Amino acid sequence: MTLSAATGSSPGDTRIARWPDGRTAAFQLQFDDNAPTQMERAIPELVRRGMAGTIYVNPANEPWKTREDLWLHPAPGIEYANHTYSHVGATSFAQLDDELTRCGEVIARCYPERPWPRLLSFGQPGGVPWTVTPEEVDRALVRHHLINRPPFKGYPFQFQGGLEEILALVDTALASGGMEYYVFHGVGGDWHSTPWEWFIALLDKLDAHRSEIWITDPVSCHQYETERDSASLAVRAGDGAFRISLSCPRDPRFYNLPLTLQTAAPPGWRQARVRQGAKTRLASVRDGWITYAAIPGGEEIAIGPEEF
Ligand SMILES: [Zn+2]
Repeated sequence: MTLSAATGSSPGDTRIARWPDGRTAAFQLQFDDNAPTQMERAIPELVRRGMAGTIYVNPANEPWKTREDLWLHPAPGIEYANHTYSHVGATSFAQLDDELTRCGEVIARCYPERPWPRLLSFGQPGGVPWTVTPEEVDRALVRHHLINRPPFKGYPFQFQGGLEEILALVDTALASGGMEYYVFHGVGGDWHSTPWEWFIALLDKLDAHRSEIWITDPVSCHQYETERDSASLAVRAGDGAFRISLSCPRDPRFYNLPLTLQTAAPPGWRQARVRQGAKTRLASVRDGWITYAAIPGGEEIAIGPEEF
């Protein structure tokens, strides 16, 4: 059997990368309550660096209403998530349903070019009455296509150890190969504030590991993980090319994020041509692997030599 330069693999062996572009880990920057310092300082800094950030919005609160002209037009790379319309809590299913509906309607208006409904992240508001049952919450989340975020994690509620403890999140993500996240309220001001210097230090550390860490939003992360863990692959070889089908059992209306695939190249290949449907591109071969993006449930993927 021919061996590929990809360690322990035969040409055509194909796997789904744990994270996009073969990165090692994922990281999410989350911001609650659309606090003024997020709009004034944090978002411009994220945009300047081309980093993703997710704002858990309350369109009925004062900070939103006083700068609605700005909030209604999210900057590139900035995602909004449902933190309920008015951050008053929920004491009945009807109230929860109404709060989620109204927040979702505003978010939909902020991204008029995107289909609706679509998946959004959900963060439960803290410090307010919340007497709905877990079953009622689950039912509401399904109804509104909301993905519950993991437990709140941010200063000053956690990270009493200060900046070092926050920066260690990046190391934890890299060591585990998993996802880590940090939740801000105010950034250098407002309530439950994380000092501005800490925010910058975290961004600097993420920047330094940019090639290893996928800095993303909760929905993209959820889509990638769900598709990755449920997709199946079939590879056929012949005529000097590989044909790969990638299928995913999840609803393609909500799970349509491209997955990163890696196919072991035959010896001597330095580049490969990758085609899916009408799309064709050249992919370089690194450590014996051809790395490329493919849409699950889409047309068959064909991989051949450069001239293919
Ligand atoms: Zn909140």
